[in-house]
Amino acid sequence: RGLQRYSTASAIDEPITPPVDINYTKLLINGKFVDAASGKTFHTVDPRTGKAIADVAEGDSEDVNRAVSAARKAFDEGPWPKMTAYERSRILLKFADLIEKHNDAIAALETWDNGKPYEQAAQIEVPMVARLFRYYAGWADKIHGLTVPADGPYHIQTLHEPIGVAGQIIPWNFPLLMFAWKVGPALACGNTVVIKTAEQTPLSALYVANLCHEAGIPPGVLNVISGYGPTAGAALCSHMDVDKLAFTGSTSTGKLVLELAAKSNLKPVTLELGGKSPFIICEDADIDQAVETAHFALFFNQGQCCCAGSRTFVHESIYDEFVAKAKARAANRSVGDPFKQGIEQGPQIDPEQFNKILGYIKSGINSGATLETGGDKMGSKGYYIQPTVFSNVTDDMLIAKDEIFGPVQTILKFKSIEEVIRRANASDYGLAAGVFTQNIDTANTLSRALKAGTVWINCYDIFDAGIPFGGYKMSGIGREKGEYSLRNYLQVKAVVTALKNPAWL
Ligand code: NAD
Repeated sequence: RGLQRYSTASAIDEPITPPVDINYTKLLINGKFVDAASGKTFHTVDPRTGKAIADVAEGDSEDVNRAVSAARKAFDEGPWPKMTAYERSRILLKFADLIEKHNDAIAALETWDNGKPYEQAAQIEVPMVARLFRYYAGWADKIHGLTVPADGPYHIQTLHEPIGVAGQIIPWNFPLLMFAWKVGPALACGNTVVIKTAEQTPLSALYVANLCHEAGIPPGVLNVISGYGPTAGAALCSHMDVDKLAFTGSTSTGKLVLELAAKSNLKPVTLELGGKSPFIICEDADIDQAVETAHFALFFNQGQCCCAGSRTFVHESIYDEFVAKAKARAANRSVGDPFKQGIEQGPQIDPEQFNKILGYIKSGINSGATLETGGDKMGSKGYYIQPTVFSNVTDDMLIAKDEIFGPVQTILKFKSIEEVIRRANASDYGLAAGVFTQNIDTANTLSRALKAGTVWINCYDIFDAGIPFGGYKMSGIGREKGEYSLRNYLQVKAVVTALKNPAWL
């Protein structure tokens, strides 16, 4: 940490050559890498330079049709949903082993396509992907229904069956982790999958999908479509032969996804959307630990986290000290080429996000917040932004209401617990929250009062495979990860059998 200050221009202006080749750029349909039916391709871009790094097949509705047919056939005819759950479990374990074996190449693709620090991808994210597949491999042969007590001479049981073809749409901020959150539980339950990756980051999923056949996942069980939202994504949402949809991305697109599902075949939808998560630091908190964790909660992944702790509420008695330390920490954040060792922050994903974030910084300044540090772009190329901290932020400012999705910390002041609960909950979002206190009663009050799908106490962004994740309010519908995610991919069937002369009921 803090190996070099963000003003080191050379860390940005001389991009390091990524240590990996790009071998997979086509669509994966029915076990084969194929061109798009239209023959079209699109550039995927290096956020360090804004230059194209590869041409990738651009899937659209016709490719979605092909992929859904393959997934349908693989579901209806097997062997995937028909093999023993133990066999499926072993295949998913092998898949996880292969991901682990290719860890560094996958991480390099993730960094190249997304801009996130290579150390973060290689040491945290790709290992979490393998862990996720192992976790769900462990569930595969523990999914079962119940025997239900009857009021009459009947044997009543429930069967937990796979739903069928799962359509999945993922964003660009954690390309492979989102792939694992979605594909892991779907496959463990015996479904087949058509997944559309984000147009900004198609590469890592294609590399990993290539490993699925070596692991023993049969052709057609996992299909990967690269392409754009309004074409390939919308076609998946509207498809009459997709039995379930799972989406992660912005709230506005989530609404569209739900609408398309409703207008077609009423397929069930799980949504993981945006947030404006409060991070509450009470007067009795360990300030240094709170500063560091609040910094991490906001700046991790260039601030591009749906659950970023993006409203830092600090008690008035420690406010000035906290702001001074938060400013110093942000000013010392190492920003630069994400392939460089010790770098904490790389470029933002693309020019749209880059300009949107700079716009929010301007809005913060214009609305009267105090710019403590940062506030500008960095380097002469790519999409780098200085770690930025605003103090004296008030609830009515745009920077305190909208999801900025960038390295911009906004620090607000509060006086009482009742007040901070009311203000923290005054948001359309409800994805996550953080609480820093050494008082167990305050922790219990806040964790129960906050309307958020996750409350982290004296920590943040802990993402173990078993922890369910999802949102209250407009942050989404349903939960991913953990046992809860299995429910998204199972149908419950009640089987009632009449008993003749039963000895007991
Ligand atoms: P987005 O919601 O537009 O994209 C997410 C995914 O949805 C991508 O795969 C995209 O191709 C697809 N998509 C887009 N339009 C679609 C449509 N009409 N039908 C079906 N699929 C469609 O998000 P974005 O444009 O990449 O980012 C915009 C904002 O979304 C960000 O600034 C941020 O606030 C938020 N975001 C949230 C998350 C999250 O994890 N919750 C992730 C990325 C972005």
